[in-house]
Amino acid sequence: MKDFAYLYSPEEATYRFSETHPFNPIRLELTVSLLESMHQLDDIPCIAPRHATDEELALVHDQDYIAAVKAAGTGVLSPLKAQMYGLGTEDTPLFQDMHSGASLLVGGTIEACDLVLSGKYKRTFHIGGGLHHGFRGRASGFCVYNDTAVAMAAMIEKYHCKILYVDTDAHHGDGVQWAFYNRNDVMTLSLHETGRYLFPGTGMVTERGSEEGYGFSWNVPLDAFTEDDSFLLAYETALFEACELFQPDLIITQNGADAHVLDPLTHLSLTMKSYEKIPQIAVAAAEK
Ligand SMILES: [Zn+2]
Repeated sequence: MKDFAYLYSPEEATYRFSETHPFNPIRLELTVSLLESMHQLDDIPCIAPRHATDEELALVHDQDYIAAVKAAGTGVLSPLKAQMYGLGTEDTPLFQDMHSGASLLVGGTIEACDLVLSGKYKRTFHIGGGLHHGFRGRASGFCVYNDTAVAMAAMIEKYHCKILYVDTDAHHGDGVQWAFYNRNDVMTLSLHETGRYLFPGTGMVTERGSEEGYGFSWNVPLDAFTEDDSFLLAYETALFEACELFQPDLIITQNGADAHVLDPLTHLSLTMKSYEKIPQIAVAAAEK
C-alpha cells in the first residue's frame, strides 16, 4: 500500500460561480502551485477526478433536484423553479454547465475514498472537495452537490463500512449531518463558529442525531474569536473520543480554511498553527 496521493485537475475550475464570487477556484490552482514550488508534491501521485454518475448522486440527492441542476446549467430553468431548489441565489448563483462542474467535485471525493478503502493508499487528499452545505434537494452556501455525503453513501454501499466525518470548517457541516442524521453507520463531528450569528445557524450541542442515529451526530460550537489552543484542544479531544467510541473504517476530514483569523466571512481566530496541526492530529487518530 502506498502512503499518499492527491486528486486534482485544472478542470475543477469549471465549478465557478462568477468573477466576483468569494468561492473562487483559483484557490485550488494557487495551492497546488505553492506546494509544487515548495517541492511538497515531488513524488506524490496526482490523480484526476472523474465525474460522479447520476446513480451515485441519487444516493443522496433527489432525482428532480439533479434534473433541475442540469436544466439550470443550460439556462432553461425558470427563476421560480430555481428559487425552489436554492439555485440562482446570491450565495449560489447559476453558472454555465453547473451539473458538470459540480459532479466532477463529487467524483473526485468518491475516488479519494475508494482509493483508501480498496487498499491502494493509506491517505488521499481531494483538494476541491468539501461542499458540506449541499442538501438532498436544495443548493445552499456555495454548494450544489454534497460531495462527501455522496461519497460516504457510495462507500457504505460498496464496502459496508463505518465512516467518521470530521468537519473543521468555520461553518457547521449541516448538509452532511442532516444526510445521515438517523443512521448509525456514519458519525459526524463538526467544530464551527456558533450559529448564533453565522450561517447556517445550526450545529448546536443538542443536535445529536435521531432514531438509530441518536448519539452519532456531534457538534462543538465555538464562540467568535476562539484561538488556536482552545480550538485544537476541543478538536483533538472530540476526535479521539469519537474514534474510540465509533471505531471507524474510514475517516473523512473537511478542513475548510475559513476559521483563519484573516478570513473575512467568519469570526474565529485560528492561525497557521492550527492548519498545520489539524491534519497531523487526524493522521494520529487514524493510525491509532
Ligand atoms: Zn465555511
